[in-house]
Amino acid sequence: MSARPAPSTAVSTPPPTSPSAPQSAPAPAPALTPEPVLVSGLAPAPARSLLRERTIPRLVTQESGLVARVGPQQYTFRRGALDDLVRILDEGGYRSLALVHGEVGLGKARPFLPDLEKSGIEVLDIPFGGECTLAESERIADLLVKGDLHAVLAVGGGKVLDTAKAAALRAGDLPLILVPTLASNCAPWACLSVMYEADGTPIGHEIHSTQAKALLVEPRILLDSPLETLRAGIGDTLAKWYECVGGLEAAPASDLCVGLATHAARQCRDVLLGDGAQALADMDAGTDSEQWRRVVQVVIMTAGLVGSFGGSFGRATGAHAVHDGISVLTSQAQTPHGTKVAYGTLVQLSLEGRWEEVDDLDAVHDALGLPCTLGDLGVTEDPSEAVRTIAHVATLAGKTIHNLPFPVTARDVERAIEALEDHESARRRDHMRTPIHTGGHTNG
Ligand SMILES: [Zn+2]
Repeated sequence: MSARPAPSTAVSTPPPTSPSAPQSAPAPAPALTPEPVLVSGLAPAPARSLLRERTIPRLVTQESGLVARVGPQQYTFRRGALDDLVRILDEGGYRSLALVHGEVGLGKARPFLPDLEKSGIEVLDIPFGGECTLAESERIADLLVKGDLHAVLAVGGGKVLDTAKAAALRAGDLPLILVPTLASNCAPWACLSVMYEADGTPIGHEIHSTQAKALLVEPRILLDSPLETLRAGIGDTLAKWYECVGGLEAAPASDLCVGLATHAARQCRDVLLGDGAQALADMDAGTDSEQWRRVVQVVIMTAGLVGSFGGSFGRATGAHAVHDGISVLTSQAQTPHGTKVAYGTLVQLSLEGRWEEVDDLDAVHDALGLPCTLGDLGVTEDPSEAVRTIAHVATLAGKTIHNLPFPVTARDVERAIEALEDHESARRRDHMRTPIHTGGHTNG
């Protein structure tokens, strides 16, 4: 059985100048490649001797068959996880560090971070510019190279971590330590960065050839994060099963990596169906419960493992493409990623005619406060115009919807959204006629 091609949404970058290029006609410098900077000053650390040769982006643009990129080399989820930071830096011989961070995230994390300067670590502070763009990752990569640094510590939400991953790679594959301050998706785990335009329009993702050195999760930071971010994280993670099950089932049964990815995707669904609502209630009450810990780890780690082991078989399909379409609507500028993906999952199921699963998921969305309609999302644009826009963007060339095992046109997506909206209207009408109200929807 032939493998599906690697996602064509991988952000392409100019190839490095070939060493055999004619010298008489110098090629223009690649736009995304920072100027190589000589390494000097600080004491040598393991990665430094290779720094000059590693300033060219080495993104994964083509691969055939399944390539598993399992995850961070160290993963810790416990109270006091950040205490490991000094040990990790000591073990690596890293004496200087860039601290790439979001403002709010760093504020939440600071009480749990050790005093690095007291431990003799030189720290360069790099505030995140606000969007995970190619330009921002280049800007930070440039600072990393010029700052002559041994390692990168990224503290923040998914976009901060994704930008730091992209920047550390471009700066010569610097060792990277990730500290998430939100449990809103699997960005802390995934070996890729989702890239955006400066205005927040998603443009695709780049897969990285290396993974973070450590992922340190302090539950007290996440417990103090906004409830809506975990709700969105649950929406994003539930999509893993519905988006990937078709691709994983199509993969060769002899491939045990695919078996692990399938197990992870099923666990995403089962843990969230079992513990999701309780976890949200516990977080709302500030309670560090077993259910909350399971849900947070499923969002951050297990969701990441689907792509880690499943490779191109375990990547996003319809729901994330619909998310991309929703994201261009002005009314949706502030809607969290996973909330839009949650609606996209229902649209994908409508597209595939999986109506029994739509019914099951409707009840789950009601219980979790996730959207079932464009109205729940808060779309204020003209409904037909919004549907046309979403469908058009979701089916542009290179969008993940084309990873589905059948051709999908914009008209198909329009019909799927219309059918879903009709289905939801009928369900709510019936629901109002039902004497006992069991829904717990909060968005509609
Ligand atoms: Zn996602």
